[in-house]
Amino acid sequence: MLQLEDVHTRYGNIEALKGVSVEVRQGEIVTIIGSNGAGKSTLLMTICGSPQAAAGRILLNGEDITRTAPYDIVHLGISQAPEGRRIFARMSVLENLQMGSVPSGGRHFEEDVQKVFTLFPRLKERINQRGGTLSGGEQQMLCIGRALMARPRLLLLDEPSLGIAPILVRQIFNAIVEINKEQGLTILLVEQNAFQALKIAHRAYVLSTGRVVMEGAGRELLANPEVRAAYLEGG
Ligand code: ATP
Repeated sequence: MLQLEDVHTRYGNIEALKGVSVEVRQGEIVTIIGSNGAGKSTLLMTICGSPQAAAGRILLNGEDITRTAPYDIVHLGISQAPEGRRIFARMSVLENLQMGSVPSGGRHFEEDVQKVFTLFPRLKERINQRGGTLSGGEQQMLCIGRALMARPRLLLLDEPSLGIAPILVRQIFNAIVEINKEQGLTILLVEQNAFQALKIAHRAYVLSTGRVVMEGAGRELLANPEVRAAYLEGG
């Protein structure tokens, strides 16, 4: 479904991605793990077209989207739940979800909202609460819910576990598995929480200073001594 071929991304003189090749197949959960500054967020942002790749190609179902504008990427069926969540703080939970349904034209709003509430009952309980007053974990649920409202074919998740209480992290990872299984949605998940991410991923890549240094099945990498030593210490 999605292919990155030898993608390079630069911020001025800094080369954040130094020739990254990654593939995501239809129906998979693929995870990218790696430490701080490895280039994980840059990879997702490059797929979304901002910043654009300086070299290499990004293909979505065979179509070259390397130079496609971010607005058009959403309309091609790629939706991102960004790092830091970026929900609308002054808007209610429901209004945030309405914003998410704009790319899909709001046509299936009721049906899609009910799906989000089934996935995250906590959001239903807080339907009229302002986004800014939700807990970190609830904001993450809202961020994922909002991304789902666009009816994507490919969902990009940037560190959904960041700064969240362990019990909510579990709920969020369970929800990711459920979205993948029930809705058949393809998911690319970027995570520092390598243990949780590898547990649910069909396949995984390890990114280190802008390069893929290892790839394999999620379970395979979970059992790999090098991965364990570098990313799973204490995990
Ligand atoms: P983290 O988990 O800390 O977010 P990451 O793996 O997502 O890390 P990126 O945020 O993609 O890493 O950063 C990759 C590299 O690019 C880092 O060296 C970072 O300092 C640099 N970088 C990221 N954004 C910018 C920017 N806007 N301008 C300049 N350099 C940047």
